[in-house]
Amino acid sequence: MSLLVIGSVAFDAIETPFGKTDKIIGGAATYISISSSYFSKEVALVAVVGEDFPQSKIDFLNSKGVDTTGLQIKEGEKSFFWSGRYHNDMNSRDTLVTELNVLENFDPIIPQEHSSPEFVMLGNLTPQVQQTVLNRLSNKPRLVVMDTMNFWMDIALEDLKKTISMVDVLTINDEEARQLSGEYSLIKASRKIMAMGPKFLIIKKGEHGALLFHQDEVFFAPALPLEEVFDPTGAGDTFAGGFIGYLAKTEDVSFENMKRAIIYGSVMASFCVEKFGTERIENLTQAEIDARAAQFMALSQVDLKIVERG
Ligand code: AMP
Repeated sequence: MSLLVIGSVAFDAIETPFGKTDKIIGGAATYISISSSYFSKEVALVAVVGEDFPQSKIDFLNSKGVDTTGLQIKEGEKSFFWSGRYHNDMNSRDTLVTELNVLENFDPIIPQEHSSPEFVMLGNLTPQVQQTVLNRLSNKPRLVVMDTMNFWMDIALEDLKKTISMVDVLTINDEEARQLSGEYSLIKASRKIMAMGPKFLIIKKGEHGALLFHQDEVFFAPALPLEEVFDPTGAGDTFAGGFIGYLAKTEDVSFENMKRAIIYGSVMASFCVEKFGTERIENLTQAEIDARAAQFMALSQVDLKIVERG
């Protein structure tokens, strides 16, 4: 089923305890599109870059089946740039630089042929732009999933809350859930955030997995303990791409199927962190994805026998 992806397409500069990159290709929508392309053949991207963005990377997205008709290239302008440094635990990071550049005045234009998608993934981007995209669709999609981050909570909270009220699923990390709700307990935070609009909430906890909330139910998906964690950048977006890609492929938006989707999201994220940037997720095989999904099943499956006390 058709999937419309929006979000940043960017240059990133990353520092981890294992090394440092110059400007490499990143951006929320880049990770989401690549990741979802392993599940859906109908991924369309709406985003903006400057004239500094390499054509070879756009060609690469096309080679993964991602339709980039909605990717605007702004002459004489620079692409969004983000730089971050990870702490030794690799679970937390500091943003060093955020240069909005082309994102500052981004007017998302949705090509006619992509204006009634069944699934929409609002990747990390100005909340006002995320909202504009929803307002410009011709039909109400079956499912809208939104990702955001603390940056927008700090500078555009009211716009952000308005956008949150328009979506079905919100994905954020634990720190952001606490900031948004003002609650330390993630259970209390989940209730407050779902009261803002989304029927489903995913709270990502990095190497400690992810929680899926719906009404009074909660499901936990572990993260795979990995030998090599090189660079967590984009793990959240890659997770979101796997999650929505799986839902679009299976055409089922029930809570039960979201449990499977969250595992596939975690499978994709587990690849992402193994190398810098998008490198590891660029050329995965179906066999690699299947093998990792099997590892996830083995990781938490247990045949529990309740023994009676004698
Ligand atoms: P993640 O590690 O999943 O949180 O996503 C990292 C990606 O988000 C990087 O590739 C950045 O280019 C992008 N990013 C960072 N800050 C922002 C922001 N304020 N708006 C949109 N995208 C951002």
